[in-house]
Amino acid sequence: MQWEVVIGLETHAQLATRSKIFSGAATRFGAEPNTQACPLDLALPGTLPVMNRAAAECAIRFGLAVGAEIAPRSVFARKNYFYPDLPKGYQISQYELPVVVGGSLDVVWEEGGETRHKTVQLTRAHLEEDAGKSLHEDFHGMTGIDLNRAGTPLLEIVTEPDMRSAREAVAYARTLHALVVWLGICDGNMQEGSFRCDANVSVRPLGQTELGTRSEIKNLNSFRFLERAIDFEVRRQIERIEDGGRVVQETRLYDPDRDETRSMRSKEDAHDYRYFPDPDLPTLVIEPAWIAAVAASLPELPVAMRARLMRDHGLGEYDAAVLTGSRDVAQYFDAVLAALGAAGPASAKLAANWVSSDLAAAVNRDGIGFADCPVKPEQLAALVARIADGTISGKIGKEIFATVYAAKDTAADAGVIDRIIDEQGLRQISDPSELERIVDEVLAANPKSVEEFRAGKDKAFNALIGQAMKATRGKANPQQVSDLLRRKLAL
Ligand code: ADP
Ligand code: MG
Repeated sequence: MQWEVVIGLETHAQLATRSKIFSGAATRFGAEPNTQACPLDLALPGTLPVMNRAAAECAIRFGLAVGAEIAPRSVFARKNYFYPDLPKGYQISQYELPVVVGGSLDVVWEEGGETRHKTVQLTRAHLEEDAGKSLHEDFHGMTGIDLNRAGTPLLEIVTEPDMRSAREAVAYARTLHALVVWLGICDGNMQEGSFRCDANVSVRPLGQTELGTRSEIKNLNSFRFLERAIDFEVRRQIERIEDGGRVVQETRLYDPDRDETRSMRSKEDAHDYRYFPDPDLPTLVIEPAWIAAVAASLPELPVAMRARLMRDHGLGEYDAAVLTGSRDVAQYFDAVLAALGAAGPASAKLAANWVSSDLAAAVNRDGIGFADCPVKPEQLAALVARIADGTISGKIGKEIFATVYAAKDTAADAGVIDRIIDEQGLRQISDPSELERIVDEVLAANPKSVEEFRAGKDKAFNALIGQAMKATRGKANPQQVSDLLRRKLAL
């Protein structure tokens, strides 16, 4: 039996507002417990919620960015349940009339050496408040309640059951993460819980149109956990059905230490929550003028920039997706392109490789953002230009990059690249007669490799190139050396 996996994600993005969604308390992470909880967050009698305009604006930004409809009128509802970290006894959310309706996200990822592409349909996105937190550890053997997080604004973004593998779901989640950070509506800090996913997973026989029974895995706060939890869950469901059992609709938790999901509770149905419109809050009315003002303030979006990189700079879809994978990278790369000027697609491709490999590796290693990279975009552009025009080899380029990176000289200009090339005599040797002399010397000094090559060992050829590069401290033009060697060895 062939199985088809079906996944829908619900993502909670914590909105980057300074104060809470219905109170004036601060939302800063990591404060002493209960120092950012005002009477409203404590649910003291007589307090009334007041909508935070900035939170609604975040929802509008998001809705516009995914091509959704912004509801002219949306309604806050009470979702009733009992839990110690929810002193009101209900969470204020949106139910029947959410603020953002529909929309979609274009997702590009690489799998099995191929670039994949998919448009994931969004069902809705709604505003709600977060709950507090129970503290079970280090609390004198008791459980404490911290209400700092209570009332923090969330945007819950819900997809259609469109995804067909864990890889695809992760690609979607990464794209969504990049977008909300790009839009400035979420700080994206997953360790701090600013972006967390619930994965709804089911399986069905391939070709069946009805959906299978799903389980929902709650609160996955890393892409790795998301992928592993789905993979585990898919295996568990298939095994269960193939063993003659059936999947029950339930809420599960992923345990990263044991790499498995565990049942938490049977899933509530919506009617269990006794949703009803919150009489304390008026309808959220969004006028067209407000939408227009927010639209005018949007930056160029990742999809648009992706298209621009492909159209104007000849980059492939995957490169373009990687370079727009975060606003940080995108801005850096744009600055490199600007400094390169009209250098053409070969330089753009070279610059793309540098930014997505060497540069990304260096800043990730040091845990810094691209904006703080010691090699500035103008310097990288100068380096790329010198490699592209044959002044230096790629290998020497890596050395210069490391030198400039390590110097952390914030005052250094783009001219530093040419100065290093000149001062250290790093110019690539492309003069045919000089290279011929070097190659002759290498051949004379390595008769064994020559013999092995003639006996059919291809490795010996690379060894000879290596010797020529070594003799010139990496400065010989490798392509010319290779051509020369081939010619001479053919004699
Ligand atoms: P809730 O979980 O709050 O009850 P919904 O029923 O609207 O809300 O579904 C939430 C998410 O679960 C959506 O992303 C939806 O696409 C997904 N989903 C619904 N049914 C299935 C299913 N059978 N298999 C996988 N995902 C599903
Ligand atoms: Mg759900």
